[in-house]
Amino acid sequence: MGGRMGKYIFNNHALLDTKEGVLKSGFQVLVEGNRIVEVKKGQINSPDAETIDLGGRTLMPGLIDCHAHVFIAQFTDNQSVLPSEMTARSSTYLREMILRGFTTIRDAGGADYGHKMSVERGYFEGPRMFVSGRILSQTGGHGDHRGKADFCSCANASMGVSRIADGVDAVRHAVREEIRHGVDQIKIMAGGGVSSPADELHHLQYSTDEVVAIVDEATRAGRYVMSHVYNTDGIRRAVECGVRTIEHGNFLDEKTADVMAKHGAYLVPTLVTYRADAKYGPSFGWAEENERKNQEVLEAGVQSLEIAMRSGVKIGYGTDLCWSPKSYQPEGLLVHNEVMSPVEAIQNATIINAEIVRMENALGVIAPGALADLLVVDGDPTQDLGVLQNEGEHMTAIMANGKFAKNNLS
Ligand code: ZN
Ligand code: ZN
Repeated sequence: MGGRMGKYIFNNHALLDTKEGVLKSGFQVLVEGNRIVEVKKGQINSPDAETIDLGGRTLMPGLIDCHAHVFIAQFTDNQSVLPSEMTARSSTYLREMILRGFTTIRDAGGADYGHKMSVERGYFEGPRMFVSGRILSQTGGHGDHRGKADFCSCANASMGVSRIADGVDAVRHAVREEIRHGVDQIKIMAGGGVSSPADELHHLQYSTDEVVAIVDEATRAGRYVMSHVYNTDGIRRAVECGVRTIEHGNFLDEKTADVMAKHGAYLVPTLVTYRADAKYGPSFGWAEENERKNQEVLEAGVQSLEIAMRSGVKIGYGTDLCWSPKSYQPEGLLVHNEVMSPVEAIQNATIINAEIVRMENALGVIAPGALADLLVVDGDPTQDLGVLQNEGEHMTAIMANGKFAKNNLS
């Protein structure tokens, strides 16, 4: 990553207070090492710090994507691409993410502790990562990509991003294995999906006993469970079993939204990917079945956001770009903006996502003690989310964990 850590004072900017949802002027921000140490109206006194004039631009915290995939690239990869090559490719995706302003990601399956540490130790440039390792799926579930004519029972052959485990004992063992390998959270498939060949979106996957066992294992080890699930019965069941974050959730209805709010569960919508996949799906060799299912979730998607908002469900931000270009990553903010203000969309991708990765007050905010993930934006994102689009072209500088990943100031 470009520069080294130092000691900087940022002045002459409009500071985006993500908690209050407003821009503030006249503040200075002192960064030392990888931390923000002081945020003060007026002059900060620190003679050994380098002062950087931001020329009136917006200073905001780095964005967080709570449903990214850096270990999934092309639909047909499981036929021919080995994990070593996938990992090498992920280094490109990681670098590109940071250069479009995403300084933290939660990988929703595929990336593991090795990826996370490769970034932390500086082998790869990239965002801070919260990894899920391999996703737990039942046989024939969304994580099982074997074709109907495939009689091979080698259960872990599913694209390297999922593992098949059936039965209470087996899922307990699988969770323990993932934790042994160093995951931050456990990801499961509790319902049908778009890209899997043998299921429907309304299917409930895993028995209730299995989901309860998975949550029990994860919780005792200080982890939480995130679940892929589209249908409303599946969302409700997962939340009642203790699943903390619902991934996608496109068919959410009011009754289930109330259950989510009551349990304090989070919704992580991934709405941009259906629009991208509708466009690119034919080019990556989807079957008609996949196209049909994608159309169903696409049509229901934005409404789920409105329902969640009305019920007071906390909404994060995810993208789930697997096979469509990962450059769509910030465009989901524009989808959120169809039903909420630009500031609320930014809050989804900063303070709410920080809560989801259990880094409240350390990420998603510019405040003393927070990690130094900062974007210098030419323009006002509270009025126009367009300034966060197009591969960071309006981001004059990007600081990740105290180091400049990009710096075009003066
Ligand atoms: Zn999913
Ligand atoms: Zn996903």
